[in-house]
Amino acid sequence: MKHTSFIEISKSAYKKNIQFLRSLIPEHTSISAVIKGNAYGHGIENMVKIAESVGLRHFSTFSADEAFRAYQVSTKKSQIMIMGMIDNEELEWIIKDGISFYVFEFDRLEAAIQWSKKLSKKAKVHVEVETGFHRTGFEWKNRERLLQILQKNQEHLELKGLCTHYAGAESIGNYVRVQNQIKKYLQFKDWFLENDLRFEIYHTACSAATLTYPETIMDMVRIGIASYGFWPSQETYMHKFKQLDAGSKNPLKRLIRWKSNVMNIKQVPMGEFIGYGTSYMASRNMTIALVPIGYGHGFSRVLSNLGKVLIHGKIVSVVGTVTMNAISVDVTDLPSVKKGDEVVIIGKQKSNELTVASFGESTQQLNYELLTRLPENIPRKIVT
Ligand SMILES: *Cc1c(COP(=O)(O)O)cnc(C)c1O
Repeated sequence: MKHTSFIEISKSAYKKNIQFLRSLIPEHTSISAVIKGNAYGHGIENMVKIAESVGLRHFSTFSADEAFRAYQVSTKKSQIMIMGMIDNEELEWIIKDGISFYVFEFDRLEAAIQWSKKLSKKAKVHVEVETGFHRTGFEWKNRERLLQILQKNQEHLELKGLCTHYAGAESIGNYVRVQNQIKKYLQFKDWFLENDLRFEIYHTACSAATLTYPETIMDMVRIGIASYGFWPSQETYMHKFKQLDAGSKNPLKRLIRWKSNVMNIKQVPMGEFIGYGTSYMASRNMTIALVPIGYGHGFSRVLSNLGKVLIHGKIVSVVGTVTMNAISVDVTDLPSVKKGDEVVIIGKQKSNELTVASFGESTQQLNYELLTRLPENIPRKIVT
């Protein structure tokens, strides 16, 4: 079946991003490819394949269903790690298949031990500690009980890692909070070591922490947004940019290119309204191209009269409201545009490029949201 738009995922861009990220971390530190949120909209199955082809063997998901998808397509040498949601009953297949997972409260820890006994197979756990994010993680005050359970059940648990997550490493405004988190994490680490409890690896850093707080890079970094070619924030970019050689280009390359085709062309006389309601009136005789993507495809309604797309390598504007399935764009100054011509919504066309951030508000935080909202049913294709 013919779809109304297509997404291309560039393997070479990913490779460059991973090379750049590797240049920032020590040799012994591994990278876990974070593929939650349908791999930030890129498609879990695609990204597992691409990441494995550049040598990555560790994947992080939020939930059990994402881990299941990754497991289906990964080589058995790869390790999959669930950082968030699991129903305790799901621990059965998770432990059986050797998938590792976060434990951050006693209920899951005890369920993991029970399942491990039943299955006679060790559960691979990453113990998450509370350092200040206040979402998940064992509290400092519960450390004795935690230690006892971990010590008593060594035959049922593989202590894969000790971990935490930073609450906003992408902004200098959170500097003190992040510093405190690092301190608290090290407190936990030392305390376990003093009590002879060792974890295979220690890991805390996401993209922003890796880029701006080198001390958070330990045995593994969990990289999401940067691997897809986006800076976690403008601040992170500026911080890193100052350290690059003069004349350097942005070392992070976007993987994603989202494209569609012109569906219809229409001449609109001056003074007529375009689309629903009266939000846009033709200020001259205009030529309008209809593009079959709308808010139902993740192109936000907020972009009514604001969004931009590329046609014939030129930036053209959305006129009127974004509807469920289509947008109208002004091609008055591109008279040769015809039905079927390529339209790029995100990515390059000739010498121009539209970034995700540029078609939303200028805040980069939108990157995460926009990418993960790209519907799963838009066909994605890996390109070189
Ligand atoms: C999402 C997430 C990451 C990756 O974050 P990025 O900013 O995309 O690099 C790392 N760790 C945890 C626990 C996460 O939830």
